[in-house]
Amino acid sequence: MSELKKIHLEDQLSEHFRLNPKQKIALKKMGLETVWDLLHHFPTRYGEAGESKYIKDINEGELVTVYGRVKSVSIGKTFRGKVPQATASIVDETGQINAIWFHQPYIAKMLSTGALVKLEGRISKRKNSWWSTNPNISTIKKVPNKIGNSLFNNDKMEFLLPTYPERRGITSRWIHHSLKKIFRSTAIDELIDPVLPKILEKYHLPPLKTALHWIHLPKKENDALSARKRFAFQEVFFIQLQKQQERKKREIKESFVLAHSDSHIKEFTERFPFPLTKAQKRAIKEINKDLSTPGAMSRLLEGDVGSGKTAVAAASAYAVVTTRPENQDFGHLQVAYMAPTEILARQQFEDFIKHFSYLGIQIGFITSSGCQKFPSKVNPQEATKISKKQLLKWIENGEVPIVVGTHSLIQKTVKFKNLGLAVIDEQHRFGTIQRSNLIRKDSISPHLLSMTATPIPRTLALTIYGDLDLTLLDEMPKGRKEAITEIISPAKRKSSLEKIRIELKKGKQAFFICPRIDAPDPNKEGSLQAASVKEEVEYLEKDIFPEYRIAPLHGKMKPKEKEDTMKKFEKGEIDILVSTSVVEVGVNIPNATVIAIEGAERFGLSQLHQLRGRVLRSSDQAYCYIFSDTENKKSLERLQSLVKAKNGFELAEYDLAQRGAGELSGRRQWGVSDLAMEAIKNQKMVEAARESAREVIEDDPDLQKKEHSLLSKQISKKYLHFE
Ligand code: ADP
Ligand code: MG
Repeated sequence: MSELKKIHLEDQLSEHFRLNPKQKIALKKMGLETVWDLLHHFPTRYGEAGESKYIKDINEGELVTVYGRVKSVSIGKTFRGKVPQATASIVDETGQINAIWFHQPYIAKMLSTGALVKLEGRISKRKNSWWSTNPNISTIKKVPNKIGNSLFNNDKMEFLLPTYPERRGITSRWIHHSLKKIFRSTAIDELIDPVLPKILEKYHLPPLKTALHWIHLPKKENDALSARKRFAFQEVFFIQLQKQQERKKREIKESFVLAHSDSHIKEFTERFPFPLTKAQKRAIKEINKDLSTPGAMSRLLEGDVGSGKTAVAAASAYAVVTTRPENQDFGHLQVAYMAPTEILARQQFEDFIKHFSYLGIQIGFITSSGCQKFPSKVNPQEATKISKKQLLKWIENGEVPIVVGTHSLIQKTVKFKNLGLAVIDEQHRFGTIQRSNLIRKDSISPHLLSMTATPIPRTLALTIYGDLDLTLLDEMPKGRKEAITEIISPAKRKSSLEKIRIELKKGKQAFFICPRIDAPDPNKEGSLQAASVKEEVEYLEKDIFPEYRIAPLHGKMKPKEKEDTMKKFEKGEIDILVSTSVVEVGVNIPNATVIAIEGAERFGLSQLHQLRGRVLRSSDQAYCYIFSDTENKKSLERLQSLVKAKNGFELAEYDLAQRGAGELSGRRQWGVSDLAMEAIKNQKMVEAARESAREVIEDDPDLQKKEHSLLSKQISKKYLHFE
């Protein structure tokens, strides 16, 4: 194709590059359609495949480059004698790693004891030693001076081909050469920097054109790093823009102003069978302020499991249902309370009945398996089943002021007369669209209270929930027992298992959590060498607790099997439940007082914290045993923080600070790239992104100005299905 053809940012790549069908599919899958897209497809590193490291610093599952000497080599056959294999041990001054090659016996011939080599491969752990299966290996003359945490794997700063996320047909080389062509064209001149110059200056970030050059064709490591920082900032800025836009849309709509004093709400909360925690009081005050000032509330209430979010939601609902709709001398404003599962919804329905029955108001319950209404005409102390049609009618004419339910609440047929407040419990379990459907349509915006028990770092919350104000319930009700948490090294394992036996002897039950379902395949490259549910059941049954009833629970089981197992565990017909972490144990088992977690270093801290929460439902002392055979000091320190941290938020912050942000547990579910996660470590930068997004939206809410047109396109494209 001719070089003379002008390239524009918004052009399809296929207009300028000859693409075969495979490449077209690959580009589509990668989300790369336009020239602009390709310019914003960033390298993951420069030079070789894996980060260069000393052996002492490597972690399981990582792709690394290691330099060392060959300590030994051998050729043999695999276990069943079919496949030829070569093995070698490589040592550097900090440790040893073993390599194994299948079908490549010639590798051993190439290596001699004492030779200096470079090994690139994925690392796994077997029987306490490091292994790499089928790594690349080559002999070298000299070990580079610089080994360690670096984007660049080369100490001579010659130009290095960047490594990009690839797909079949679209190699890093292809991307590199295509980008070079784009850089030579005038398309680059069309770029408009979405980030204001004063912000770039303030944070020492390079302008867009420079940054693109630096990230794709860096001459110095520092240039690439500052370019990455800039794009991290930009991503957070884009996310913020979209969030601020959503917020603005709600703000400009009319809302209900509920002018209640704090003491009015106190009349309600004083009826609770417990005193509120300070955090709950603060939350209720903040919410009441939102409700009583113009503009619909958009608030996220974040608190650990058991921190008492329901009580806060009930107090907010009280403010709403004790308000009469304008121009009407009867009835109430309405509340919709949506929970992700039927079990949770039912729990809340029952809770609300307890809290509100004294007011003599009606409470509806709607799920896909049926509807109910409280109170029943026949028995005013109880709820009664009613038809959906009937309930929908009463919701529509405003007779039922509080409706609790599952996703069924957002069906089109559910129409509220005066929806004043929407509460979304466990909001992370709903999609953005489901959430906005609950507060859709009405010409008057209902207030929105979102709730979640997933503790995430504040900066991440500010980013992904940029449209919401944040309230933390960072305090547990008084008198809650904490679980006794212990980190157990292999040497202490036996005695801990005996402590668990003592609990079981008392008739208590235990959870054992494993990182995997099936036993790992030792021949598979990169497979996680960790305890599996299946092996664990066998091991516990045969070697440790033969006298107890043990059952597995994991995601590969049929729903019916899972349900049966859970029921049996609930009834005490199973003593030990061996499970993966992904299986949600939605049902409370107050008799389970022990949770033991195998291979704990593989879980995120927040995840471990949440697992531990499963044994906090009992009035008896609970125990959490964290088994780990890691000797890595950092990993151990990290696990120790579980013993020290006061709540999930502290842990989430710690997780963010200590691990690479890219490893933050659950990051995939947030839909934020690894690059942006780096920016999220920097609170000032996140605040600046939020602030500048706000400025842009204040100035041009619909991004209609010419200089915002590209921006508007990009955010609607990339972040529409965000989260
Ligand atoms: P979550 O935040 O996980 O939704 P809940 O609202 O379900 O927590 O509350 C957990 C339990 O704690 C409930 O049984 C509730 O009645 C109780 N609870 C809530 N607030 C307090 C408090 N201030 N003091 C004592 N118990 C409380
Ligand atoms: Mg709850």
